Amino acid sequence: MSHQLPYVVIVGGGFGGLAAAKALRKTAANVILIDRTNHHLFQPLLYQVATSVLTPSQIATPIRSILRNQKNTTVIMGEVTGVDKEQRYVTVSDADQQDVPVAYDYLILATGASHSYFGHNEFAAYAPGLKTLADAEAARNKILQAFELAEAEEDPTRHRDLLTFVLVGAGPTGVEMAAALAVFVRNTLKSDFRRIDPASARIVLVDMAPRVLGPFSESLSKAATKRLEKLGVEVRLGHGVDLIDAEGVVIAGERIASKTVIWTAGVAPSPAGKWLNAETDRAGRVRVQKDLTLPGHSEIFVVGDTAAFDQNGKPLPGVAQVAIQQGSYAGELIHNRIVGNPPPPAFSYFDKGSLAVVGKGFAVLQSGKVQVSGFGAWLTWAAVHLQFLATSSLRLSVFLQWVWTYMTEQRGDRLIVSQHDPQVMKPALDATLKATVAGR
Ligand SMILES: Cc1cc2nc3c(=O)[nH]c(=O)nc-3n(C[C@H](O)[C@H](O)[C@H](O)COP(=O)(O)OP(=O)(O)OC[C@H]3O[C@@H](n4cnc5c(N)ncnc54)[C@H](O)[C@@H]3O)c2cc1C
Repeated sequence: MSHQLPYVVIVGGGFGGLAAAKALRKTAANVILIDRTNHHLFQPLLYQVATSVLTPSQIATPIRSILRNQKNTTVIMGEVTGVDKEQRYVTVSDADQQDVPVAYDYLILATGASHSYFGHNEFAAYAPGLKTLADAEAARNKILQAFELAEAEEDPTRHRDLLTFVLVGAGPTGVEMAAALAVFVRNTLKSDFRRIDPASARIVLVDMAPRVLGPFSESLSKAATKRLEKLGVEVRLGHGVDLIDAEGVVIAGERIASKTVIWTAGVAPSPAGKWLNAETDRAGRVRVQKDLTLPGHSEIFVVGDTAAFDQNGKPLPGVAQVAIQQGSYAGELIHNRIVGNPPPPAFSYFDKGSLAVVGKGFAVLQSGKVQVSGFGAWLTWAAVHLQFLATSSLRLSVFLQWVWTYMTEQRGDRLIVSQHDPQVMKPALDATLKATVAGR
């Protein structure tokens, strides 16, 4: 690391941060990328880990391995806790050290978003979200464990809550997850149990919006709903959840008993707005200028889910393409400044379209005036997602897994991996043992 060169600090190794780092690969600068995890995560496929299609390592890659050939870049695993705009440093904490200052000449904040429970943070204990690899593994454990507990349970009336899965939020994540779960229980698990019928599982998708897949057109939303219903998903729209507790959910006064509730609704931006003491939009995202800088601070950039940027009078959506294009833009602008080139024109998002998959062999695609649903859209979905995975080894491994799953209905990772807690299985096993002893 040369002390003569400018320091570019990037916070976040997600889509935005990684794109920024790559845009700076030939820049004469010390680039420091800081992330609280050691991996770049492909969030669009998180639901496939939660539903056992893929393993965690198929959708995430160590950031330092992605950037190993980029000699001007140092990767630090640590949690950024604040920014001093005047002295130009960020504070970073890890397991060993607290609030260590890391100085910058240019700063790119790409810290993404987290769950929002719309003011009901008490729901979090019963309805975990799907944002990190740990979340996806926890959801997978919970889903698989529900079937194990139901199989070991003597009292069939208890099966309904164990085999009822509620997904709160019918945006792309909720729809994709509900459909994948339906295919999983009806196809993959169908021969694996003796005392329960996994196909009898109830999957409920809830949203207060009047239709699923809000960002898509009405006709694609209808096509997706039809498909979900064909897969056996119960779609409950027009009313949100009033309550979530250990026994399940209450929707419009009706209690649905469920041991597995997953939150696939709102997102809240990271605390970057607070660190910067900056103006934010209603959702808390930092308002940036046309070149993605903070007003009054041409050296600070905010990109991706944590930035608010209006184009044609509308805020850009929190999607991977926006983050990638903004990250690349910020990297390119900093490069131009360092080498003395004129800045690129104001940032403009190029929308390549949106895709959502609804179970095996079916997706919806919307790109400009093009609106397609069905198998062709699903092939496009598969090709696009493979293309955007971080490394060629992941592309190959995910492609092979998808072909295998498509042909055999078998999934990649059905292991329940959690701390052994004998109490969890005890009541069910006691009953099973009693029955065995009584039957002897
Ligand atoms: C389940 C799910 C499904 C999705 N599906 C799609 C889809 O199909 N298509 C699509 O286009 N988009 C999808 N999205 C949205 C897309 O993933 C985001 O828009 C995109 O990840 C935003 O990129 P980003 O760089 O802003 O943030 P992220 O990719 O979230 O990266 C943020 C990074 O910052 C790090 N970080 C956060 N805070 C700190 C801190 N204090 N200190 C250090 N590091 C920090 C995080 O660890 C993370 O690595 C989905 C999102 C989710 C959660």
